[in-house]
Amino acid sequence: MSESKGIAYCGEKYIPVEKASIPILDPAFTKSDVVFDVISAWDGKFFKLEDHLARFHRSCDYIRVSPPVSDDEIRRIMAECVTRSGFDHAAVYILCTRGRYPGGTATGDPRMAENEFIAYAVPYYWIVPKERVNTGAHIWIADTRRAPDAAINQRVKNYNRMDLTRAQFEALDAGADAPVLLSTEGFITEGPGFNVWILKNGKVLTPGENLLEGITRKSVFELCAEAGLDAEAVDLTEDDFKNADEAFISSTGGGIIAITMVNNKPIGNGAPGLTTGKLSDSYWSKRAEGWEATALADLLNLENSQAAGAD
Ligand code: PLP
Repeated sequence: MSESKGIAYCGEKYIPVEKASIPILDPAFTKSDVVFDVISAWDGKFFKLEDHLARFHRSCDYIRVSPPVSDDEIRRIMAECVTRSGFDHAAVYILCTRGRYPGGTATGDPRMAENEFIAYAVPYYWIVPKERVNTGAHIWIADTRRAPDAAINQRVKNYNRMDLTRAQFEALDAGADAPVLLSTEGFITEGPGFNVWILKNGKVLTPGENLLEGITRKSVFELCAEAGLDAEAVDLTEDDFKNADEAFISSTGGGIIAITMVNNKPIGNGAPGLTTGKLSDSYWSKRAEGWEATALADLLNLENSQAAGAD
């Protein structure tokens, strides 16, 4: 399914995603002055929609933008984008852009901006090549460091991604699937679009600083608690990662995916880990059973009943 078949809500209209654009004079373009979130819709249901909306609002508050639509409208617009696209499995992006302000981007006052809301649906994606879901991904610990939180707060879902993109070039040039970046202090952080985890001596460990706190990461903590696994956020070094018993990625784009190689060195015996496999299976089976699911149909019916009420 092609990305271009997606539907966007942009300029208060539903249009093909290929036609949706941000004006060159919106600092969302010239200054990356925008925050966003990405939510998956699977077989007519959003997953953990309220967690994503809460994170979106925390991101908005941090950069001082405010979506000009209510949360009920955001939920309904998202459901419309997926339904109009006709995707069974979709990723829905929601963005709040700074918008233009008097005086222009260079010298104007951003507090005077008219913030804008954009949403669009594209087909669901896997953050590493799909075939790696079975075989495990090859991750590259890059030389490029993650921009520190003191400069760009990575808990805010942002598009300031020069570090992630440079690291991606390093990974691809080395023949790996995706990079993982170290912090300026030398600890593992995350990769473009995913958090990372290792298993060591029965403990499930993930970094806790200088990263986006993924909604899938939160899900992994929940799955570990259910499975009686000890999971913790700790500082991890490159060596911890390379000497792990198992390792995996967590992301809206693919759920839980094994990592089987780091910088050309196999993790464990080089096959996807057993615990990783169990966590991934329970992630997908719980989702199929309706784990924190919001039915798109309910959101669209809400619109109908509200419209009916307005008549
Ligand atoms: N880290 C970064 C930089 C991301 O962009 C993402 C998601 O896009 C993640 C981690 C994973 O977050 P989530 O599980 O909410 O998809």
